[in-house]
Amino acid sequence: MPESPSSQPCPLFVGDNLALDFINTQYGVGASYRECFVDDASVVAWLKLAQVLPDDFHGAPRGLLKLALELRASAQSMLNAAKSDGEAAVDVVNLVLEAGRVAKELEWDGASKSFRVVTQRRHDDAASLLEPVAQGLVGLLTDTQLELVRQCEAHDCTLFFHDLTKSRRRRWCSMAACGNRMKVAAFRARKKAE
Ligand SMILES: [Zn+2]
Repeated sequence: MPESPSSQPCPLFVGDNLALDFINTQYGVGASYRECFVDDASVVAWLKLAQVLPDDFHGAPRGLLKLALELRASAQSMLNAAKSDGEAAVDVVNLVLEAGRVAKELEWDGASKSFRVVTQRRHDDAASLLEPVAQGLVGLLTDTQLELVRQCEAHDCTLFFHDLTKSRRRRWCSMAACGNRMKVAAFRARKKAE
């Protein structure tokens, strides 16, 4: 039997976009509801899996969970607003961008014999750790065709994805999870009607 979203491991990376994967850390309806961010450490673990924080980072700054939840709620309402011509507050995202801004330095790279820009985290506080996610959200909201940002069509799944398929007809968060599940359900419904 195909797995339901509730039995999938948390966190998921099905969005093909950092900001959408971040929004997807809370998903599902009813009994399938999942919250991936439960403490500061779970946010650090997610940032490492998302490859925006090095694996050797130790500890978890105070207030990380609180700021991550605020940023996620803000990202959700900004995405909804952008897709429906609505309006949403931008304060939290701007706060993370400003407080967590990276240091950029020009460096000579002896190996390739060329200059390069090196970006570095200034601090190890909550805003600095979440800054890449806020940057990802900026990219999503200003640089992405939002009609290609959709939610999984399964009635009990809320996961977002950026449709990067050539045909632009992606329907599911993942074929293995919701795609097969919904196809089995549709097949049963057809059988029943016969
Ligand atoms: Zn789904």
